[in-house]
Amino acid sequence: MASLTSAPLHIQHLVPAPASTKIRLALLATALCDALGAPAEFKPRFSFSFISHMKPNGNFALGAGVWTDDTSMMLALARSLGTYSGSSSQQAEGTRGGFDEADQLEAYLRWYQDGVLSAIGRCFDIGSTIRRALVIYKDALKASGAALARIARDLCGDGFGGNGSLMRVLPVGLAYFRDPAGAAAYARRSSAPTHPNTVCKAACAAWTKCIARLVRSADAREEAKGEEQMSKLDVLHHFAAYPWPADADALRVALAADVPLPAGVVDPAAIEAHYTAYHPLMRLRAATHTEALAVTPSAGDAEALAARTLALLPSDAALPSSGYVVHTLAAALYAFLATRTFEAGALLTANMGDDTDTVAAVYGGLAGVWYAAQEEESADGEEGLFWSPRVRAWRNALVRRDLIDEVAGELVEFVERHAASS
Ligand SMILES: [Mg+2]
Repeated sequence: MASLTSAPLHIQHLVPAPASTKIRLALLATALCDALGAPAEFKPRFSFSFISHMKPNGNFALGAGVWTDDTSMMLALARSLGTYSGSSSQQAEGTRGGFDEADQLEAYLRWYQDGVLSAIGRCFDIGSTIRRALVIYKDALKASGAALARIARDLCGDGFGGNGSLMRVLPVGLAYFRDPAGAAAYARRSSAPTHPNTVCKAACAAWTKCIARLVRSADAREEAKGEEQMSKLDVLHHFAAYPWPADADALRVALAADVPLPAGVVDPAAIEAHYTAYHPLMRLRAATHTEALAVTPSAGDAEALAARTLALLPSDAALPSSGYVVHTLAAALYAFLATRTFEAGALLTANMGDDTDTVAAVYGGLAGVWYAAQEEESADGEEGLFWSPRVRAWRNALVRRDLIDEVAGELVEFVERHAASS
């Protein structure tokens, strides 16, 4: 239960590991959280029985451990980044991988039409904005490049601020982790083929810049290159101090402190005290931690795990988990900040209800990057930051792990080729 209780953010540090380990396990973590939360999708918070293991997904008559569109689209983007070979210079040089919007749309279309990179051989669910984008792409103007302009025109309005590009953006930060600013620019572009809305693009850029910074720091520390040791307070500060564009002000409202951090405050405890008083997610965190600590469990009791996890969950009014990209990002970030292990945050997101699986998948990418280390480094039965008996059970119940491993391998190879050529 210790993993559910409070600890200052500035003493919770990023787990060092090679980039290849972070990439493989962040993809796995996304699928685990997606499959865990999927049975609670569409349900109001606190209206369903507690989820702590892989359950059948009654929404789509699926068995337990089946991941959904979030993971499929994330894998499609990862495969495109890892294996794209469209440019003539690439074909001449025999190199593979890179960023190309049309290739990404092709990958999404293959999933939608043919079930490529789906968990059960077909696409059983797709977001409405993504479907519209793929129809425009397919019907109208596929090869001409005009499809992107038409999508940008038709799908940029306020009604198209869904989480469909944020939910898949993880591989961009993993692929380009050595250059976080460059990764953020690619992330904006990666949103445009289905979600050209300015808030969606800004959410993808900020999230990706954070992911890339974490992978770079974890990889460098693993090699003892003396990068700064990042804490969860740095992650909060990344979003609180992010230069949100004026046309994405909803993100600033949700993720910046009500009172900006005064200049000259550098002591981590003082920074954390400021955010605890003035940051909306930190105020929620303080309130729910008090409630969770008031639950007095008998150790190892499943009911106590449920009671404490649910105590950490604010009301839906205070922390919505809807498909609106701002809600999804804030809810995923809250789960990361309010818990101390991968497992605890996964349980929190899987029990949020509404767009549960997508919030969980977005959380899973960040938490995978943060906590992941080789499995051998935590012994069987031991409660680790990433691996635990419950997480191993989730992993063993997950369908089509081979697909996830295969695509992760392609992305790792791309990252290694990229390093060799730069
Ligand atoms: Mg889904």
